Amino acid sequence: MPKPEVMDRTVGFLKKNLETMLQKKRPEYLNQKLRGVIQYAYKNSQAFKNKMDSAGLKPKDIQTIKDLEKIPITKKTELMELQKKNPPFGGFEGVPITELRRIFISPGPIYEPGEMEYTELGWAQGMVAAGFRPGDMAINTFSYHMVPFALQMIDNSLHQIGCVTIPAGIGNTEQQVNILKTLKANTYFGTPSFLLNIAEKTGEMGLDLRKDLNLKVGFVAAEMLPESLRSKLEQKFEMIIRQAYGTADIRCLGYECLKKNGVHVPDDKIVEIVDPSTGKQVGPGKAGEIVATTFNKVYPLIRFGTGDLSVLTETACPCGRTSPRLVKILGRVDQATKVRGLFIHPGQADDVASKHPQISKVQGIVTRKEHKDEMTFQVELKEEVSQPEKLKNEIEQSIRDVMKVRGGVQFVLKGAIPAEANKIEDRRTWE
Ligand SMILES: [Zn+2]
Repeated sequence: MPKPEVMDRTVGFLKKNLETMLQKKRPEYLNQKLRGVIQYAYKNSQAFKNKMDSAGLKPKDIQTIKDLEKIPITKKTELMELQKKNPPFGGFEGVPITELRRIFISPGPIYEPGEMEYTELGWAQGMVAAGFRPGDMAINTFSYHMVPFALQMIDNSLHQIGCVTIPAGIGNTEQQVNILKTLKANTYFGTPSFLLNIAEKTGEMGLDLRKDLNLKVGFVAAEMLPESLRSKLEQKFEMIIRQAYGTADIRCLGYECLKKNGVHVPDDKIVEIVDPSTGKQVGPGKAGEIVATTFNKVYPLIRFGTGDLSVLTETACPCGRTSPRLVKILGRVDQATKVRGLFIHPGQADDVASKHPQISKVQGIVTRKEHKDEMTFQVELKEEVSQPEKLKNEIEQSIRDVMKVRGGVQFVLKGAIPAEANKIEDRRTWE
């Protein structure tokens, strides 16, 4: 029989002073860190110096988060091009290659430097927020080969908080179930879908998830986590599941606390939400591209464009953390568009659809008529409704509420919207 769970996993911080600092003190804290990394990167990262020089900027021009707007955003495509010209890191690294511990290779290929001493906060902050505690035994089911996530980021972060790690890697579900049964590991790191595989395999093997296994907390990443899947897994295992968001290059950009209030930005990153067409910050509550700056001196990426869309909020979170939060990831920038000057994105089309259970599928189509933008939602219904005109008006109201722009609704036959269609399709021509 596994030992009964007595550990308090409800309240915990990795760096309480940082995580709960007065909100009004945070900008100055971040500005000071920002000035430090800008000075450092200008001196030590050739690619960053070139970028500043070509924009006519000196480190003294960047004093605050607002000043970041002066620096052109670095897109992933640009990073890849510069790495091709000047391998392995394109001049983005902040230390000589001989001072690295590892070199990672992500699909692309993109090369990432792995530092000697791992001091990043984000993943470890997220693990503690989710309920990981010193002395926990964690199974890490992400791939340890080539890519930096499992080995560099997760393994090191688990070590930071004092967890024992089983470097299981991906695949071989039956073996992983046996490991979980024998070692009684109580914390999980992996994708939500692999956790579901483990649940199913455990059943097939005639074992009981709660009696034979001992998972108490799961920290998932790299996949969408629908609430329905989360609650299914939480119930099956009787465990807490929290998620985090980040990229291979810039690492953790947000982690959930127990309150499930979006994802908290770690204290060693600056996240801006910008209008992708201008690079200017849009302010809290407005949708735009996630652009991130890290204080990591080994790989000091400044204004790195993730290509992901989100909304930032600075309202207080009941967990006590005062950092801003990304409300949710709304989709990719290249699927978003502007209608009558307002930025709209695929996540909003989903939000409209979710308000009306009769809808099975929607697609927003943007056209231009007499120099004016028009938006029409094509809507497929699950079945015929008795008052289509009433439903049409209600959906149009939802479009206004969610997108802040007027859009018409046109009911179409089932299957009329192609399976691979974009949620928002821009059919405007510009002559
Ligand atoms: Zn919170």
